[in-house]
Amino acid sequence: MTAARAQKSSHAPFTLMQLPYDASALAPVISAKTIEFHHGKHHKTYVETLNKLIAGTEFEGRSLEEIIKATAKAQDAEKKKIFNNAGQVWNHDFFWHSLDPKGGKAEGKMKELIEKSFGSYEDFKKKLTETGVTQFGSGWAWLVFESGKLTLEKTPNAENMLSNKPGAKALLTIDVWEHAYYLDYQNKRPDFLGAVIDKLLNWRFAEANLG
Ligand code: MN
Repeated sequence: MTAARAQKSSHAPFTLMQLPYDASALAPVISAKTIEFHHGKHHKTYVETLNKLIAGTEFEGRSLEEIIKATAKAQDAEKKKIFNNAGQVWNHDFFWHSLDPKGGKAEGKMKELIEKSFGSYEDFKKKLTETGVTQFGSGWAWLVFESGKLTLEKTPNAENMLSNKPGAKALLTIDVWEHAYYLDYQNKRPDFLGAVIDKLLNWRFAEANLG
């Protein structure tokens, strides 16, 4: 848990995190209108639904991370719903922190790790774009730290590294659900990914997540 994420409550009732920038701060890469829908409607609904689903259950006093891990492989329909909403809350919190109005190229330690792991920044950008584009349907593209190097992962729907790869550390994520880009880019997911990677990635957040 980095300082940047400490602002949200650690257990139920969960609250919608405040964006670390103005809704218009990521334009023109992501418009204020997209942010208002994505954060103000989609993300908010996941928080509210999660609170309703866990009220009076064994999950009420537990952290988001604990809920995700405990429900990740659940077969039970109610627990699957809890997982989907808890995962979406965590992933969106992480996504908003992965963006920075003054983001862009990696420097210092992250630059070194990228060159060591992918060869060059251009190769990294190409592979991260490809990772997001090839996530069929809704999901997430992740920059991950595992076994001393950076790798890329994709997950469908609400899944993340906590649910799928507990040994790997998520450093950054990009939401590739249509609601993340459709108002600004329509069906052009590669353009959205290219612009986010060029202009908005929060490398200080990525470095802090190395731990
Ligand atoms: Mn989303």
